[in-house]
Amino acid sequence: MNSSERGALHLWSPNPDRAVATIEADLYRPGFHFLARLYGAALGVPAPRRLQKALGDPRELRPPGWGELARLFRAGASPEQLVARWQVVVDRLADHLLPDRTKEELATRTAIRTHLYGRVRARVGEALEGATNVGVPTGMSALARESQAWTRLKLLEGVRDLDHHARRAVVETFLHSREAGEDVKALQRKLFDRFSEQNRDWRRLALTETAAAVSNGTLVAVDPEEGWEAEWVASPTACAWCRRWHGQSFRVMSPEDPRKDGQREVWPGKSNLGRSPSPRRRDGHLRGEAELWWPAQPCHPNCRCQWVMRRAFSLPVP
Ligand SMILES: [Zn+2]
Repeated sequence: MNSSERGALHLWSPNPDRAVATIEADLYRPGFHFLARLYGAALGVPAPRRLQKALGDPRELRPPGWGELARLFRAGASPEQLVARWQVVVDRLADHLLPDRTKEELATRTAIRTHLYGRVRARVGEALEGATNVGVPTGMSALARESQAWTRLKLLEGVRDLDHHARRAVVETFLHSREAGEDVKALQRKLFDRFSEQNRDWRRLALTETAAAVSNGTLVAVDPEEGWEAEWVASPTACAWCRRWHGQSFRVMSPEDPRKDGQREVWPGKSNLGRSPSPRRRDGHLRGEAELWWPAQPCHPNCRCQWVMRRAFSLPVP
């Protein structure tokens, strides 16, 4: 298996943690169906075999308006009129396939589930340590509620972006293809490529945001004053960078604590966004510590590592 195959497996295989895999799948699936049906409707009939295979049951895929775009591709109208008509049909389809209510529900449900699961994980870590007075995860702190609210808003942005991007991509592909005087076959090929690309991005976002939300939900479930540590458990398919942290523990801090040490401590919201693993920028400039990856989960897109929580001091075993 070469590294790109391993990367593909890493990206498409379900999370080794069954609960996280379920949350990921429940976020990813509606977005995938939206893309498949929108692009499918734009492709009209008959769709190329490889697209049909990727999309699944074609009967399910036919929302009202199926085939309308393909008919409008070569309609006798001015360029302005054509683009305006394509846009109207695409907007109608997208509004129908992914209503605002569904976007809200997806974001809210995922935020609740990831944070609830994070609370459970924190307590499971404690129980595995042998503690007998492990609390059942019930109430949420103000910080945890805030973290869940940020997660919901981030997810909502992600789902809205999926929708906007798909609307734009379909009309843009029609426009470029029509301008180039291409036939429907060439248009279908281009649409299929855009679909694959966008679906891959969506999959990556669903996986990465779920992992970030579970990580935050776990870290935010404990009181930093109680002396908690998070142990890095690398996923079986982890990259070399993540593997080297496997088994190391990091003190859990409050995100507001000004004395946080990013190399030895973690806190809710800590991420590698805007940071890089490579010591040099493309222009040769040497990156400072503030620009480099530090231990955070997820460490990078598609990272499947997890935290196991424990008290920093050992608990008396009865
Ligand atoms: Zn990782």
